[in-house]
Amino acid sequence: MARYRGPVCKLCRREGVKLMLKGERCLSPKCAIERRNTPPGQHGSSFRRRQLSDYGVRQREKQKVRRIYGVLEKQFRRYYGIAARTRGQTGGTLLQLMERRLDNVVYRLGFADSRKQARQLVRHGHFNVNGRKTNVPSFVVSAGDEVAVRENRRSRTYFKDLDASGILRKKAVPEWLSLDPAALGGRVMRLPERAELDLSINEQLIVEFYSR
Ligand code: SF4
Repeated sequence: MARYRGPVCKLCRREGVKLMLKGERCLSPKCAIERRNTPPGQHGSSFRRRQLSDYGVRQREKQKVRRIYGVLEKQFRRYYGIAARTRGQTGGTLLQLMERRLDNVVYRLGFADSRKQARQLVRHGHFNVNGRKTNVPSFVVSAGDEVAVRENRRSRTYFKDLDASGILRKKAVPEWLSLDPAALGGRVMRLPERAELDLSINEQLIVEFYSR
């Protein structure tokens, strides 16, 4: 699936919130939202954020989630279709599906600083899921799945440094995942619950956007 390849800080500036798309930089004073929290573009700084229409509010909420997880519209719409056909709350199921993407799991386990970096690690074939090479970032994990760095990639400088620096051991991993830093791998203990996702998103607005 395709992905957005343009400048990402612009996306945060458009939404007016930190979407945390750049790892460490997002926590530093260099963050574009800290320095210039205005919409992007030539007239961005002179642009007053207007009162959004009902449609606009719902659209922005949808765009935020898409941008956080790095998914384009067509694929996101497909996720929505799956969520709508699944029993339970559509909004919650939609966020759960996004959270179960392999690139997100690699990010949550602490192997990458951002979802974008995690996506690249997956695409480059560094990970196994249940012992099989899986290089599809949109792969949806299930409870009981094991995600681990492939044996022949562990000697790569990136993973050696990750292990040696002890960064993995310090990472706070969500409760639905368990990490084994020594084995450079982790396990999906159960599916994530809505309350565990650190997202300030009103998913009901996304449901209303698509069911208009
Ligand atoms: Fe967004 Fe991170 Fe860029 Fe800040 S540094 S604007 S949070 S992507």
